[in-house]
Amino acid sequence: MNHQDEKPIIYLIGARGAGKTTVGKPLAQALLYDFIDTDACVTEQCRMSISQLVEQSGWRSFRELESDVLRQVSKPHRLVSTGGGIVMAPENRAFMQSSGKVVYLRASAETLAERLSHTPQAHQRPSLTGKCIVEEMAEVLSKREPLYLECADIVVDATCPVPELISQICTCIHAAV
Ligand code: ADP
Ligand code: MG
Repeated sequence: MNHQDEKPIIYLIGARGAGKTTVGKPLAQALLYDFIDTDACVTEQCRMSISQLVEQSGWRSFRELESDVLRQVSKPHRLVSTGGGIVMAPENRAFMQSSGKVVYLRASAETLAERLSHTPQAHQRPSLTGKCIVEEMAEVLSKREPLYLECADIVVDATCPVPELISQICTCIHAAV
């Protein structure tokens, strides 16, 4: 076991509203990791909101920048909270799998929609489908769920209480190294 394996990079994957930020920040603290959010890095680098970026340059530009950011931020002792669509690119899945431990925060479309309806400001993104939020999340999940599952080393039920999720993930990470 080399030193890096003792503190593997952790990637949190899952849809918008799965709890990547809510779980990721205290989890990073517990592990003495730095918390990184790829969406925040994208926003910082392009100096505009994701909505504005997509409006001006399209989803493809966002996805390209997101993929660049993923590679830039992947350093030891980091917990990386990723954008919900990061798994769409096969090379991003391969990159995360080969460079760290991937944790999927799994939640149903209903749970995600319910959460997002309570925090619309924090989750403002251009609609992916133009449909109502439950339908949109269901459609998004039907495409992404197999990719999240394929990519994940660890799958947790995102509806568990946050402290429980932290403890489950810590246990799995230690067991896995
Ligand atoms: P993400 O970063 O994956 O988009 P957030 O961490 O912003 O998701 O969480 C979305 C909403 O869901 C927030 O209002 C948060 O408080 C709530 N939430 C996240 N995880 C849980 C949980 N395990 N139990 C209850 N509510 C949660
Ligand atoms: Mg988040």
